[in-house]
Amino acid sequence: MLDGVRKYWVVILLPIFVLLSAFSRPDWGFYGHRKINRMATFTLPTELFAFYKPHLEFITEHAVDPDKRRYALKNEAYRHYIDVDHWDTIPFPSVPRDLSQASLQYATLLCINNKDTSDVTSLLDDKELFYQDHIQLDRYSLEVVLNSDLASYLSSPNEINCTQFIYENKFVKYGVLPYFLEDFYHRLVRSFTNKNVKAILKLSADMGHYIGDAHVPLHTSENYNGQMTDQVGIHAFWESRIPELSADEHYDMLVGKADYIDNKREYFWDIIIESHKLLPDVLRLEKELRATFPEDRQFCYDERLERTTWTQCPEFAQAYEKSLGGSIERRMQESIKAIGDVWLSAWVDAGQPDLSEAGLGLDPDFMKKEKEELDKAYQSGNINGRSHQ
Ligand SMILES: [Zn+2]
Repeated sequence: MLDGVRKYWVVILLPIFVLLSAFSRPDWGFYGHRKINRMATFTLPTELFAFYKPHLEFITEHAVDPDKRRYALKNEAYRHYIDVDHWDTIPFPSVPRDLSQASLQYATLLCINNKDTSDVTSLLDDKELFYQDHIQLDRYSLEVVLNSDLASYLSSPNEINCTQFIYENKFVKYGVLPYFLEDFYHRLVRSFTNKNVKAILKLSADMGHYIGDAHVPLHTSENYNGQMTDQVGIHAFWESRIPELSADEHYDMLVGKADYIDNKREYFWDIIIESHKLLPDVLRLEKELRATFPEDRQFCYDERLERTTWTQCPEFAQAYEKSLGGSIERRMQESIKAIGDVWLSAWVDAGQPDLSEAGLGLDPDFMKKEKEELDKAYQSGNINGRSHQ
């Protein structure tokens, strides 16, 4: 009888709790991102480590800002993933590595004339020039509204009469992570060149987050939370629940020394490709385990941060992790190393500026106001875009 009642409640509550716990755990979990950023500083050569060391708390704490920003900014979400399997299969030869080419390949330019809308994409004479002049600045937006006269970019401009144009950037919808990494890298280099300590710290922390995301297999797929394969909740299971249970005790986070990256674009894309290679196992093994592991020992109540959550039991998580053959630990280690590589390379590309005097006397709370605003947006719970990226 008791068993029957319990089963009844499990059936009713399980999907609710899975959803709740999944919604409350952003990628790698806040725990994972903080840990990864912190450990990345230990890969750096002495001179650069000496710069980061007094700011270790900042780099750690602000590792999660980009996730909070998804609650504040409309277009932030697309930077955290790429559903690259929407476009092609490994090694994704048909996906242009240049964002303008990728964007133009899938975009539509609409001409609005009062109530009429017509597709004028094929009339664009010089797509590249049009992109440079009108889209470049808003290249990560899903839709760009243009009120300017575009006649000079269109063949047969006299035949059309448009009061407004809309550039529908369909490519962005499926995520822009590797492109954004490349762009963001240049910003980090600039901050080093200018010895702008606040910018170096802020961009380093953010960069660490995006690099961490790129190492997660479920950040490279349209089936990002197992919703296409009846595995809802797998996102948080892989990247939050398991590291939280295992990392402190069992993971080796000292990953050696950072290396200079020669070809940044290739490097970022390789991270995506390696993540995506792991995806079939991430999905298949969880499904197999769910079918064989005792059903009443898969989900448990867990006390975390003064809250009770209904989540995967430690033994179930352990069994899944074991079946994956240590790939979660490896991806975490590779994230740490990659972040070190990127910080080091940016500093080298900036000409290895001497930062020994930089940042002395800097108020460690210099981002207090921005952080409070981000926290407020995050606590509001109104996310823009997906909750699992
Ligand atoms: Zn993220």
